[in-house]
Amino acid sequence: MRVLISADMEGATGTVLPADVTSGTPRYERFRRMLTGDVNAAVAGFTAAGADEVLVNDAHCGMDNVLLEDLDPRANLIVGRHKPLGMMQGIELGVDAVAFVGYHTGAGEQGVLAHTYLSHSILAVRVDGVPTDEGRFNALVAAEAGVPVVLVTGDDLTCAASADWAPGARTVAVKTALSRHAAICRPPAATAADIRAVAEAALSELPLGHAGLPEEAAGRGATSGPVGSGPRTVAVDVDSPYLADRASAMPGVRLDGPRTVSFDAPDARSALRHFRALTWVIGGGREAEWT
Ligand SMILES: [Zn+2]
Repeated sequence: MRVLISADMEGATGTVLPADVTSGTPRYERFRRMLTGDVNAAVAGFTAAGADEVLVNDAHCGMDNVLLEDLDPRANLIVGRHKPLGMMQGIELGVDAVAFVGYHTGAGEQGVLAHTYLSHSILAVRVDGVPTDEGRFNALVAAEAGVPVVLVTGDDLTCAASADWAPGARTVAVKTALSRHAAICRPPAATAADIRAVAEAALSELPLGHAGLPEEAAGRGATSGPVGSGPRTVAVDVDSPYLADRASAMPGVRLDGPRTVSFDAPDARSALRHFRALTWVIGGGREAEWT
């Protein structure tokens, strides 16, 4: 049984400030350890539940945040950037379950360090008209692959939001959001114990179609969240018209309004790839602040 952990950082134990999740700052080094601790707790739980392979995909920013030297030796780590599927790299290898560790709420929402890919330029993302944060977008890709999302960790608002796109998942709130940059934080010893226990329970109760378990059990998670495959339409609201103009230079991207662009994709996986490229074009065009 193979489990994929997609590990972001804004929803890790203790992170509340941009500097906590920004490489090169003194605070960042502290919180890499906290993130690695959350990941290790999930690895321990999944292993206890019978996973014989746990693959961790580093999914934050430069995607080299988890400390390999401190990673539970029962797991392997996908490190580095320019991965075709980004936060969902590893799903293409065929996995039985996926966990979203350290996740956060989306652009325009309340929650600690809430954003969707770009911390300021993107105001909202919709897939087929439905507001979509990173968790929901990634859950669409998982559902398309027939892989259930079994565990979500992050702040309390992320856990609540996941009920919409991963209702079959168990959740662990590692902090309670007070504002975008403040939370009541639980210490790593407490969150690790919870993540381990909940990960073990989540995987233990999963009927695995891949493993030849009863027919009715197959795809349990896949049918409890976003369902199926098929064409997707992605719309993105940006905070300035010049960013929409710039994004609409990409082939296939429509300018729907002064600050809105959209595109069509044949499936969720293609939609994610296209969307990531769009974020690079938008992010690379942002003007410096001036008054
Ligand atoms: Zn992140």
